[in-house]
Amino acid sequence: DAVVHWFKMDLRTTDNRGLWEASEKARAADVPLICIYVVSPEDFEAHLTAPIRVDFTMRTLHALKKDLAALDIPLYVETVERRKDIPERIVEFMEEWGASHLYANIEYEVDELRREAKMVKMLAEKGLAMEVFHDTCVVPPGELHTGAGKQYAVYSPWYRSWVAHVHANQELLSPFDPPAKNSSAAREKVAALFDCDIPDAPESKRLSEKDAKRFRATWPAGEREAMDRLEKFCEEKIAQYSKRRNFPAEGATSSISVHLAAGTLSARMAIRTARDRNKTKKLDAGIEGIQTWISEVAWRDFYKHVLVHWPYVCMNKPFKPEYSNIEWSYNSAHFEAWCNGRTGFPIVDAAMRQVKSMGYMHNRCRMIVASFLCKDLLLDWRMGERFFMENLIDGDFASNNGGWGFSASVGVDPQPYFRIFNPLLQSEKFDSEGDYIRKWVPELREISGKAIHDPYHRGAGSLAKKAGYPEPIADHKNSRDRALKAYKAGIERD
Ligand code: FAD
Repeated sequence: DAVVHWFKMDLRTTDNRGLWEASEKARAADVPLICIYVVSPEDFEAHLTAPIRVDFTMRTLHALKKDLAALDIPLYVETVERRKDIPERIVEFMEEWGASHLYANIEYEVDELRREAKMVKMLAEKGLAMEVFHDTCVVPPGELHTGAGKQYAVYSPWYRSWVAHVHANQELLSPFDPPAKNSSAAREKVAALFDCDIPDAPESKRLSEKDAKRFRATWPAGEREAMDRLEKFCEEKIAQYSKRRNFPAEGATSSISVHLAAGTLSARMAIRTARDRNKTKKLDAGIEGIQTWISEVAWRDFYKHVLVHWPYVCMNKPFKPEYSNIEWSYNSAHFEAWCNGRTGFPIVDAAMRQVKSMGYMHNRCRMIVASFLCKDLLLDWRMGERFFMENLIDGDFASNNGGWGFSASVGVDPQPYFRIFNPLLQSEKFDSEGDYIRKWVPELREISGKAIHDPYHRGAGSLAKKAGYPEPIADHKNSRDRALKAYKAGIERD
């Protein structure tokens, strides 16, 4: 007999609810705990997972295997080519090892929920059991509702309710212990699994050696690294977070999104660690930087709750259905310029080059480039959403979809479509000295003063041209008018 924990986006031993529950079950029954992870190339394709994110996952698996081995728990990793074969393969694996119970944490995306439902049925037919747990959010979806019993569609009241719920249920922030060590008899029974190698990343998602080396130095993997990053941020930056977080040149944010996405860190742990540094146990009191940061981490919960309550957002549909009929421009040259950071808008280009170079982009810049794509270029927000998933190391469906919905004014946000970011003003406000632009757009490094924000209209055109920097592909005022007309017409067409 044995108990299996199926790892997905929860690649850690610490504070992992499903893993802890599996361990308790195995301990009580005095049977081995086995862990499994399935690499599915088709799943990576279907989810548009960025090669940098796949690489991060594979490196994390190596670290996780080691951590589990120290507890005499094997981590078995296998490639299953087609995603529809995963449930069958896991059932087969359980039968091979005589396992009676499968444990896992829930993933809320539609395909994943369907797959889980299928697995429960398949296992039940064989007399086996599957137990699934809420783990990824601090407050499980479904717990919060308005006075009228509905899901919140606006963040602020949702957040007030989220805070009140956590205050009333402090155990939501309590950590789960790492799994207990397998007994030596249990280890003996599954000894063969310790010798299995972790497969390579699927070929279609493999990084070039050069990129791999660079990314590995920037983004070390594993749960210890996640904790170190979090502790360091809390030690050095969180107090200033509310004042500094919007300035992309400053590195004032935590960059733990990569760990939350892979599950090398739990959201519980993030919030708890921040709270414990505060002078109060309240999430909405005390040091301002800590309060603000906690409210940002909560956005992640919010978008997952939205996904659960309005699952059609997983199907390429805007949250606001009345925005389904906007006539986008589909100008492929514009899209290419945006993807390659060659729009002639320095702040946009800097941000797009940052994502190409690091697999990461600062939140303010995500908003700027997203707004620029949908409003200034009138390109379908789904093209940008897709590009982000294909390039981000922290690509997460719910947060990405939510962020794009917000920026394109088609999502869960009361922000009306006629509030349009001016990329130039954003640049002047949030990168006033142009440090972020100079870091990522080397062609503009020689340009001094305010001309950095718009060289062709501020007397630095010849310098920019000589350096090979493109002229702006759009005129903000005209683009703004065009976007307003297109959005209005789209709604009227509905
Ligand atoms: P910090 O400022 O340190 O915040 C801490 C954590 O809070 C983040 O790691 C993240 O988990 C959460 N958080 C902060 N802001 C948001 C937000 N607006 N929405 C949801 N969660 C938030 N985040 C992703 O994790 N994956 C994505 O694929 C993603 N795509 C985005 C696309 C667009 C168009 C926009 C506007 C935002 C997107 N975000 C996404 C949200 C946000 O930009 C990142 O979470 C943040 O930049 C990560 O950096 P950080 O860890 O330093 O954040």
